[in-house]
Amino acid sequence: MSLIVQKFGGSSVRDAQRIRNVAGIIADTYRAGNQVMVVLSAQGDTTDDLIEKAREINPKASKREMDMLLSTGEQISIALCAMALEGMGLPVVSLAAWQVGIQTTSAYSDARIKKIDPERIQRELDKNKIVLVAGFQGVNRFGDVTTLGRGGSDTSAVALAAAFGADLCQIYTDVDGVYTTDPRVAPGAVKLEEITYDEMLELASQGAQVLHNRSVELAKKYHVNMEVVSSLERKPGTKVKEVVKMEKTNIAGVAKDTSIARIAVVGLDHNPGVAFRVFSLLGKAGINVDAIIQSIGRDTSKDISFTLPRADVEEAVRVLEEQKGALRFDHLTVEDKIAKVSIVGAGMMTTPGVAAKMFEALYDANINIQMINTSEIRVSVLIDEEDAVAAVRAVHDKFFGDDSFS
Ligand code: ADP
Ligand code: ASP
Ligand code: MG
Repeated sequence: MSLIVQKFGGSSVRDAQRIRNVAGIIADTYRAGNQVMVVLSAQGDTTDDLIEKAREINPKASKREMDMLLSTGEQISIALCAMALEGMGLPVVSLAAWQVGIQTTSAYSDARIKKIDPERIQRELDKNKIVLVAGFQGVNRFGDVTTLGRGGSDTSAVALAAAFGADLCQIYTDVDGVYTTDPRVAPGAVKLEEITYDEMLELASQGAQVLHNRSVELAKKYHVNMEVVSSLERKPGTKVKEVVKMEKTNIAGVAKDTSIARIAVVGLDHNPGVAFRVFSLLGKAGINVDAIIQSIGRDTSKDISFTLPRADVEEAVRVLEEQKGALRFDHLTVEDKIAKVSIVGAGMMTTPGVAAKMFEALYDANINIQMINTSEIRVSVLIDEEDAVAAVRAVHDKFFGDDSFS
């Protein structure tokens, strides 16, 4: 008997018909003799609708109350799906995070799972029940509900799979696997049979929303056997694993992120310790910065620019302005109509010229690069947001188009 964790995203449980479809997949897995644990997301656009509802009442609502509100979406899904399975005569129980003991850090809206208490779920599995768990939510040390960040149900599923040593963790979604880029952006995108954890982690971190980046991080750490599959068509998806067969291309995919902004701190002293003071201040405020560029110092001053999530701009500006006197800068500029386009691939470590090929594609498409940032297996460029789709297509075409020799 195998233990299988199945996670279904929002579009897969959008309405009654889709919930019945999901119940059918779960039932088949259970009837085939497996133990089944299921994680569900909120239905369709529920989470966005709840955010909108909150804005109407108080646009500055606390993160604690936002989590209280947003976590309700997933509870609706598990209860409805449990009802569908009950209707099919199957033994099932739905459980919220506090019932399951999914313990998280206390960072509301962006909590990390610390520990899962296996006792309750094990008891239900021992009674041969299908266990449905609300995704995206946890409980912190104050006993309050937290959420794991947008797209976080994937992470709930992988964390459960890791905690219970599941044989397989299936992420069911509205595409039939991981593609070389978002198939909704570039129609020429190609489905990958398999992808490494490292490449998937970079793609997810650079905006490929098909998987929540922390889910991939956990899958790698705990060797979770993971696959992305379609909830609408029964066919093989994409396996995410440690090592994959060599592909002919040296990049795995292209991702874009349009949820970032750039702040420039202009006119800082050209002295030691300045960057340290700026970034330790931001770090203490819990703000993650990504690409950093420091201008070559003029005689007495220099500028430092960095990218960060758009959602954190207000807070970053507040903490920097508050310390303007101590940091001794002239002014801040904020640019939020920007996007980051990245290529990812383990093959680029051993293949020269990959970055140049990406820059050539952008040059041919007449797209201006504002910043460049790399890791061992990634090259990212910062560009105007309005160029993002054209950039993804041009770069994808260069590496995966018919006449790409890679
Ligand atoms: P779910 O609601 O099931 O969690 P998401 O909307 O979070 O689904 O993720 C699936 C979507 O991710 C797809 O519909 C697709 O548009 C997008 N996507 C972005 N990059 C990729 C990629 N490289 N491969 C497949 N899908 C991608
Ligand atoms: N419902 C949450 C969201 O929309 C979590 C998820 O779908 O994974 O972000
Ligand atoms: Mg998702």
